[in-house]
Amino acid sequence: MLEELAALVVPPRCAACGAPGRRAAGVLCGDCRRALPWLGVATCARCALPLPHVARCPASDAPFHAAWSAVAYEGAARDVLHALKFAAARPLADVMAAQIAAGAPRHLLAPGAIVVSVPAHPVRRRGRGFDPAELLARAVARRSGLPLHRALRRGGARSRQLGASRELRLQAGRLGFAARGPSPAQVVLVDDVHTTGATLSACATALRDAGAQRVVAVTWARTL
Ligand SMILES: [Zn+2]
Ligand SMILES: [Zn+2]
Repeated sequence: MLEELAALVVPPRCAACGAPGRRAAGVLCGDCRRALPWLGVATCARCALPLPHVARCPASDAPFHAAWSAVAYEGAARDVLHALKFAAARPLADVMAAQIAAGAPRHLLAPGAIVVSVPAHPVRRRGRGFDPAELLARAVARRSGLPLHRALRRGGARSRQLGASRELRLQAGRLGFAARGPSPAQVVLVDDVHTTGATLSACATALRDAGAQRVVAVTWARTL
């Protein structure tokens, strides 16, 4: 009873920093929005890192054709990603999807592409009761007017990765990703964060072996 009353009078809090605010629950306060480390336009179209590269582009041989991220995985962006995994996931996923839809180059989210999320490991998904990347992908699909398709699965029996190089086949098998069936030709692969690119590569390999002709990797954050 007391808790219910408190919920009525305590103002909603920022999803990332917990500061009280006037916005609905799960949304970011002005300070957190302003503190986000936006990557901007000077990024590599293949790997999403800021240009110039300090060394060779890490995605020069990647099975995905392009990559883009909204923010660097640091500072306030870490708090936002933490919040997406542990609290207020749904409204926050919508905020992040709006930032992706507003910032990503038009051609990446062009009509004809199908949005596919990087599936969480089944154990993690069961533990949380939801899959943060799937929430984000669903919101990106809605915001960009593209269909969503559950083209990938994770865990269970390993599938054969026919077309890929031996190294990519091994990687895809190790991470346990497989296509559920024939892949859409044009795929926008969505995950919350692009770290080394190994997960995105494994997913892209599985999709290309299942018939995808073009896979672009779109994430909210990019590890620098
Ligand atoms: Zn905040
Ligand atoms: Zn690059």
